[in-house]
Amino acid sequence: MTQPHNPTRLQSLDELEFSAVLSDLDGIVYRGDDAIAGAVARFRSWHDQGLPYCFITNNAEKSADDFASKIIGLGIPCTPHQVVSAAEVTLAYVSARYAPGTPVYVVGTPSFKNRVEAAGFVLASTAAQVVLVALDRQFDYSMMKAALRNVLGGAELIGTNPDLIRPVDDGFEPGAGAIAHSIATAAGVSPKFIGKPSPDIIHLAMERLGVQAQSAIMLGDQLDTDILAAQRAGVRGVFVETGVPINPRSAVKTEYLLQQL
Ligand SMILES: [Mg+2]
Repeated sequence: MTQPHNPTRLQSLDELEFSAVLSDLDGIVYRGDDAIAGAVARFRSWHDQGLPYCFITNNAEKSADDFASKIIGLGIPCTPHQVVSAAEVTLAYVSARYAPGTPVYVVGTPSFKNRVEAAGFVLASTAAQVVLVALDRQFDYSMMKAALRNVLGGAELIGTNPDLIRPVDDGFEPGAGAIAHSIATAAGVSPKFIGKPSPDIIHLAMERLGVQAQSAIMLGDQLDTDILAAQRAGVRGVFVETGVPINPRSAVKTEYLLQQL
């Protein structure tokens, strides 16, 4: 893992040599429903050059098809195959460890719950073997209580991603990680997180594109998720300053800084 202390400030990505791009979505491609300046033109030109790219998101609220539609709507060519989400990687992780029919208590959107069911699990509010936590803006005390009781009963607490904060149109909102930590704190356990900064999600994206770590770059706006995941997978991380402000207390140091795409 390379963690240089003085990041190189790039004027443009043209200063780097790469043949594939892995990119975060929130804070890099869009913020809320609006495209971020420079992103659309950049990805369009990579598409025109035939340079492969894949989007990697910790957001588990929507399916790959939904993300691809949103990205296309902003003017960037994209197929569902070019989107890897924490939900997908999380369900692969749970499927590898728990048999179909396992009762799972889910904190998440209806779309996420549908995908948990489609993966063969049974949604349950009691006697669950797994408590699966994704971002859910309806999360409340009764859900926290149900999750707590399942964890105290022996269920494994798994979070789709450890993000504590997310950029939205008018500022920031708590992320799935903050919800998972609230349950973990009450239960006195540590949650298992699957999305970035776990390198698994980066490996899956590289496999999709058929590229090696050394030929790729990863664009992100969070040191503790995007950049750390890239470093763990041996990919050069570029911190782009269009999303969450850089966390000066983070132990993660980016190799490259870029003001905007
Ligand atoms: Mg982001």
